Amino acid sequence: MTSEVTPLKTPAKPAFSVCVYCGSRPGNTPEFAAMAHQVGNWIGAHGGQLVFGGGHNGLMGIMADAALAAGARVVGVIPKALVEKEWAHSGCTELHIVQNMHERKRMMAEHADAFLALPGGIGTLEEFFEVWTWRQLGYHDKPVGLLNLNGYYDSLLGFLASAVTQGFMSDWQMELIRTDSDAERLLQALVQAAGLTAPTARLDQI
Ligand code: AMP
Repeated sequence: MTSEVTPLKTPAKPAFSVCVYCGSRPGNTPEFAAMAHQVGNWIGAHGGQLVFGGGHNGLMGIMADAALAAGARVVGVIPKALVEKEWAHSGCTELHIVQNMHERKRMMAEHADAFLALPGGIGTLEEFFEVWTWRQLGYHDKPVGLLNLNGYYDSLLGFLASAVTQGFMSDWQMELIRTDSDAERLLQALVQAAGLTAPTARLDQI
């Protein structure tokens, strides 16, 4: 193992673990920040663990802060080079500092029961496509979700439909991902598809 682990707190065993990929920027409208907050809060309120890229910028930081405030176990996995740029989130329950991006993505995947991509840029897209590709090849059988808030991913989904029509993809590959515009419904579906249960939210956290 080449990573260093910095345990900052010792919370109870989580009911489930979701790896979330999302923008290192906040986007141009407040709905994106509200969604990132909702995702972090839902994971914490339902006794879950958040696995993410370990940054404090943009949607990543908003989501991690909300998850921590709601009592989630938050596992950040960040390459050394990004820590040197002072991009790491200092409040993570566990912060794994790894050597490179490959090690980061492998470790994030190993710690997760399910994967979810929120709106983001090329980093988010690359992580989402990689974990989807790993699923089609049978490297894992964990559910993969895409949160299509306010139609953010409509044009991408349209392009993928055209890839099916033009013979470069099959319907079964599209069926390996779940898309929804509603964050809580999608999180619940992913946890269930992983064969786990999200305990009822604590009343003080809804
Ligand atoms: P992007 O969608 O291009 O903003 O990239 C976000 C994704 O790439 C996240 O899910 C992270 O895993 C990774 N990433 C990109 N920028 C950063 C950063 N400043 N700090 C930590 N992780 C980042």
